[in-house]
Amino acid sequence: MKAEVTEIFSSIQGEGIFLGARQIFVRFKRCNLACVFCDEAKNARAKEYTALELMSEIKFLELSKGPHHSVSFTGGEPLLYADFLKAFLPGLKKKRFTAYLETNGTLPDELAKVIDAVDIIAMDFKLPSSTGEKAFWDSHREFLKIASKKKVFVKAIVTPKTTAVDVQKAISIIKESRKSIPLILQPATPVRAGDRDIDKNRLLKFLEIGSKNHLENIRVIPQVHKMLDVK
Ligand code: SF4
Repeated sequence: MKAEVTEIFSSIQGEGIFLGARQIFVRFKRCNLACVFCDEAKNARAKEYTALELMSEIKFLELSKGPHHSVSFTGGEPLLYADFLKAFLPGLKKKRFTAYLETNGTLPDELAKVIDAVDIIAMDFKLPSSTGEKAFWDSHREFLKIASKKKVFVKAIVTPKTTAVDVQKAISIIKESRKSIPLILQPATPVRAGDRDIDKNRLLKFLEIGSKNHLENIRVIPQVHKMLDVK
């Protein structure tokens, strides 16, 4: 079995509650969505890796660059390769690496295949007013129920078009699983000429909605790797 990978590199986590952690990133090609703010290079060249080849690259980075907090499986959408990960992750864990999954949170059946071997899940909620895509509330609900067996936080990208109704809906779904699950509101980094930043007062309003709805841990965290201009 092989997986299409566009990049393997050592850097820092620039999003969410593990901000600043040193990680090895494995970026898989392809995604099942097409968010308007996506900054992934659609035409990035990929190389096919067997499990053995991927393990060897990860071990090389760990040996040459020193210890990392975890290995981040990102994309694209890594769960498009769930069968590959199901076979690969147990070996990674035997070597005492921590498996960190960055996912768009829309493929619960695929998550179920790998949940036992994943340690941390950074799950997106795709708010339809932010993405310009259809809503995925049912998939997110089912996904979060499975993900909540492990350490999980939810990240929602917010843009000038994000509505309070969508933020409220996301909060309700998180509370159905556990109200202590962190929700990170991540202002979209402008990717095209003419893209605007979200108004600061709207961000404060979204935080207020979280607090009034008794979500225990809601924060605003921008993409720090973009500010630092690192990968
Ligand atoms: S889920 Fe992520 S990788 Fe996929 S289109 Fe949206 S932003 Fe891009």
